[in-house]
Amino acid sequence: RTSADGASALTATHCPYCALQCGMSLAVSDVPAPGRPSAPPPAVTVTPRDFPTNRGGLCQKGWTAARVLTAPGRLMEPLLRLARGAPPRPVTWDAALDHVAGRLRQIRADHGPDAVAVLGGGGLTNEKTYALGKFARVALGTSQIDYNGRFCMSSAAAAGIRAFGLDRGLPFPVTDLDGADAVLLVGANVAETMPPFTRHLRRAVDNGGLVVVDPRRTATAEQAALHLQPTPGTDLALALGMLHAAVADGHLDHAYLAERTAGFDEVWRIAARWWPERVERVTGVAAADQRAAVRILARADSAYVLTARGAEQHASGVDTASAWINLALALGLPGRRGSGFGCLTGQGNGQGGREHGQKADQLPGYRRIDDPAARAHVAEVWGVDPAELPGPGRSAYELLDALGAPDGPRALLVFGTNVAVSAPRAGHVVQRLAALDLLVVADVVLSETAELADVVLPVTQWAEEEGTLTNLEGRVLLRRRALDPPTGVRTDLDVLHGLAVRLGQPAARFPTDAETVFEELRRASAGGPADYSGVTWERLRAGEQLHWPVPAPDHPGTPRLFLDRFAHPDGRARLAAVDHRGPAEPPDDDYPLHATTGRVLQHYQSGAQTRRVPELVAAVPESFVEVHPDTAARAGLADGELTRVVSRRGSAVARVRYVPSMRQDTVFLPFHFAADRRANLVTNPALDPVSRMPEFKVCAVRLEPVRAE
Ligand code: SF4
Repeated sequence: RTSADGASALTATHCPYCALQCGMSLAVSDVPAPGRPSAPPPAVTVTPRDFPTNRGGLCQKGWTAARVLTAPGRLMEPLLRLARGAPPRPVTWDAALDHVAGRLRQIRADHGPDAVAVLGGGGLTNEKTYALGKFARVALGTSQIDYNGRFCMSSAAAAGIRAFGLDRGLPFPVTDLDGADAVLLVGANVAETMPPFTRHLRRAVDNGGLVVVDPRRTATAEQAALHLQPTPGTDLALALGMLHAAVADGHLDHAYLAERTAGFDEVWRIAARWWPERVERVTGVAAADQRAAVRILARADSAYVLTARGAEQHASGVDTASAWINLALALGLPGRRGSGFGCLTGQGNGQGGREHGQKADQLPGYRRIDDPAARAHVAEVWGVDPAELPGPGRSAYELLDALGAPDGPRALLVFGTNVAVSAPRAGHVVQRLAALDLLVVADVVLSETAELADVVLPVTQWAEEEGTLTNLEGRVLLRRRALDPPTGVRTDLDVLHGLAVRLGQPAARFPTDAETVFEELRRASAGGPADYSGVTWERLRAGEQLHWPVPAPDHPGTPRLFLDRFAHPDGRARLAAVDHRGPAEPPDDDYPLHATTGRVLQHYQSGAQTRRVPELVAAVPESFVEVHPDTAARAGLADGELTRVVSRRGSAVARVRYVPSMRQDTVFLPFHFAADRRANLVTNPALDPVSRMPEFKVCAVRLEPVRAE
């Protein structure tokens, strides 16, 4: 990395943040002796790298990503709090791991293996997610493991499996979108969440073919030829209306439906009742606009439907995603070169994070944990008896809600997620965390969740370690190590190894080297839906572009899925007979407004990283609430004033931002901020019955002035 004469050398790697995984190069100079920060911090410079997803572009988060490496508050040594309320004190690694292992042994002995729970993250590398799932099931023997992708991708994943028999966010390379004449984006504000992605939409924009469905007039909607602005929580009805329009206006692809799908008749029995004028009354989207949107898609030679969290983070998220898939299937788009359906993954390893066994209901290779053949295969790789493997556990919110309850977990290990900010009904979640006998958090900085922990374990971060991730198009990437970690921090793999050995596991069962873990992951995934067995470290180092499945070392990978057949046994895609149901919590006299939440360009997820980057904080220093001026006036609020956004679950303070394009019945809050500014203090944990996704995208609130103390 650094040349012999001391000049900095470039390390080709990827951004630490979102699922686009933009290519970047890091130049590191003044590499310090081990023992940062007593030595001068390294000077790390980011330059964009030409990579298919970003074509040499980066967003502001990517440009400033190196700042996270030297962020103020970087954890350098383990912290231990011996009593609640006592200040945490630095301890050695041995003392910290001995303490954690001892407490885990005691809690398991007293309450059984399911009294210990594990929560992972969609930003962890593939190797970490794999090792975490194995650690939970083998070393702890617990079924209680899930990850924060439950709050992110779970509805899309369930809908994709239901329709296509397989879930891969984009079943085609991002670059296929370059040739799109028309793109329907549903609940995706890519101009802010992943700006370089918009390079792939230029042709559609120039053709007047970009259609955006979003209750807000976002930066993405500004570029659209047609912006459909539905009432929050009514997306499913809108999709039904557009399917009805497709039928009524003669846009169905009859040959495709007959040859490649099943289930249209059942779907039409429901959609027939949702004619566009009726849908207009429910959604507020003009019937003419519904028809125009379908016309744009149907007349294009190359058309795509893409969904994201706006469509999926609902108590009806799976059915809503299915409704958009139904529309795409009715138009004959999925599984064809030059057209398709896809879902835009959010977190950096949101795709890989759900494939390798940290989900409550899954084993590595994207296998179901209740499938006897899958259990036998994975148990053999792990060297354990399949009968010893636990079954499915609680989903993320249900797990958090059960913490400290009589039949719930008494200990929680958290890796790579900040649920005190990011979970719905966050005030309640913090209370549940406080009810634990033991909370252990492995993180880079003292996140809001780590602040509550009994034991904090400081770990390495992206550019300080090597590992693989799988981006939004199912492409397996190698993130390279560019500089040495500070003395005093360890990798997550080291932490799991140290704990597993103390819990009586053979040392060799939990390797600490990412490449060795990946070798085992390859074997565990072999034959599964997400088959990585042909992906080797050498191929990744050589820069091969490998989209899973890659079932053999000489297999070229599968950039495009479903071209010949879908993954159901009969090769046909399934349309799902789904019907509209409104939000779990509609507005009423006490809480007359819809609140919806989302991201801004400068911050990422809970903000634990980006709130420590000066340039990003300078751009967006605090939480705000977007409000129509008339709505604000009715609440007695002026632009720039602080308001309290109040729901049945709590309230969040935010600064009023007049946005004349907002619907008068809706306010918007970003969810990146801490303390009393947490948007998730108000969100509703109503869960989708299939995916167990909470309804982040809509709940009922009112606005109150914040009186001066
Ligand atoms: Fe990083 Fe995503 Fe921005 Fe690309 S778009 S630079 S991956 S945060």
